[in-house]
Amino acid sequence: MSAEATTRDSIRPTLDGPLAGRADALVLFGATGDLAFKKLLPAVYHMAKRGQLNLPVIGVARSEWDGEKFRERARDAVAAQGPVDVRAFDTLARSLAFLSGDYNDPETFRRLKETLGTAARPVFYLAIPPSVFESVISCLAEAGLNRGSRLVVEKPFGRDLASARELSACLHSAFSEGQIYRIDHFLGKETVQNLLVFRFANGLLEPMWNRHYISKVEITMAESFGVEGRGGFYEEVGAIRDVVQNHLLQVVALLAMEPPIGVGAEDLRDEKLRVFRGMRPIDPAEVVRGQYVGYQDEKGVAPDSQVETFVALRLHIDTWRWIGVPFYIRAGKGLKTTDLEAVVEFKLPPKLLFAQPEAPSPHPNYLRFNLGHEGEGISVSLQAKVPGEAVVTRPVDLEFTYDEEFGTDRMEAYERLLSDAIEGRPALFAREDSVEETWKIVEPVLRDQLSVIPYERGTWGPEVADLLVAEDGGWYNPGETH
Ligand code: NDP
Repeated sequence: MSAEATTRDSIRPTLDGPLAGRADALVLFGATGDLAFKKLLPAVYHMAKRGQLNLPVIGVARSEWDGEKFRERARDAVAAQGPVDVRAFDTLARSLAFLSGDYNDPETFRRLKETLGTAARPVFYLAIPPSVFESVISCLAEAGLNRGSRLVVEKPFGRDLASARELSACLHSAFSEGQIYRIDHFLGKETVQNLLVFRFANGLLEPMWNRHYISKVEITMAESFGVEGRGGFYEEVGAIRDVVQNHLLQVVALLAMEPPIGVGAEDLRDEKLRVFRGMRPIDPAEVVRGQYVGYQDEKGVAPDSQVETFVALRLHIDTWRWIGVPFYIRAGKGLKTTDLEAVVEFKLPPKLLFAQPEAPSPHPNYLRFNLGHEGEGISVSLQAKVPGEAVVTRPVDLEFTYDEEFGTDRMEAYERLLSDAIEGRPALFAREDSVEETWKIVEPVLRDQLSVIPYERGTWGPEVADLLVAEDGGWYNPGETH
């Protein structure tokens, strides 16, 4: 068996859990929309290219399109991302069908049932605004299409705890929790899945992965761009709702969770839930909210908007493993770079044998996980002796990048998640109880009405965010040596 096969086989059962049967149709509600264009149609194309798309893909929307127009749209969506492989696209095109109809009209769903024919396990993907969920779900139920099917739901999963519960009640009115797949596309990233593998497939780290050896953990999600014409959407969310409550808390959970008791999807999801339950609700005094200069001039943004385009905060996880170890999160738009990084910093040795009397203390060791954008990989910063008579140390990096090690042909997050929803593998999807816990964690900040602090674009946000982490040695900025 090849090394590649061995690794793949040993990883997949851990992340996937038991199979619940492959779907036999994929229905995309909102097939004319932005998400379908940017992510879903390219994902099904890549599945076709890998020979894994052997089910019909039915687009549903109000727009009066036909199959031909939908295929054209699919071709444009694929072409927008690179050269089109004709054979793969033909396979996709043969799978595509389009159904135009109102989401409130039972007739739409009668025709959908007819189009589905003998398909008994369809996946319904709701790429539509949450305001339309209720009518789609009740019409699906009325048509009896909730039986044996799966429902994929996109964020936002509410905008606070109360609305998240309302959304769950709406979903559960026709679907059981086991049928619901909540997409957090960060969980579909190879680099994010690798956090688990890195921690639990290597014996090296686990003995040190706790408050005795780790001094702090930092996660930075930086975007150099602004809201780019989506001001109206962003005004309703802000950085905390957009990326902290979901994506970044999921990353914290993967870094902080206990080893799952078994290989099933629920084993993994149970451990993530336990981390969230161990997190204190965020103290607004440990939060800095910022807004880039010029945001208020963006289209769709109120001239006196206090919506945060930047947030920095300190989290506490009150478990035996983590008590006393600060977890810092920083996320923002209009920052210096576009990067997603997690850094785990270790404590210095108890006695600094090689420190020079007049020199500053050596920098602590740290692990840097580059989770997104260019150069995805992991580096370890260690001290090494600088050649010469004197014993002088200097930090050096041991590094691996995905591109160099595995090549660039990797499944994109949406392809992975769509495949998992089709195969019935729920491990990489957010569960209702975890979603509720994460809202409990961020809710004190959502209630906090303090003004945002302006910052210039191309910086690391408001300078006051540096004070938050000053006593813990300052931020690790992506792409910069610390
Ligand atoms: P769009 O605004 O592009 O809407 C998707 C489709 O839904 C439209 O093509 C439209 O199709 C239909 N639609 C829009 N508004 C209404 C309405 N009021 N009533 C009925 N149908 C409507 O949304 P996106 O594709 O951007 O997003 C879809 C879902 O995915 C949303 O829940 C969003 O929050 C989520 N999401 C989107 C991301 C993205 O990158 N775009 C990222 C993460 C989540 P038609 O009029 O033809 O029926």
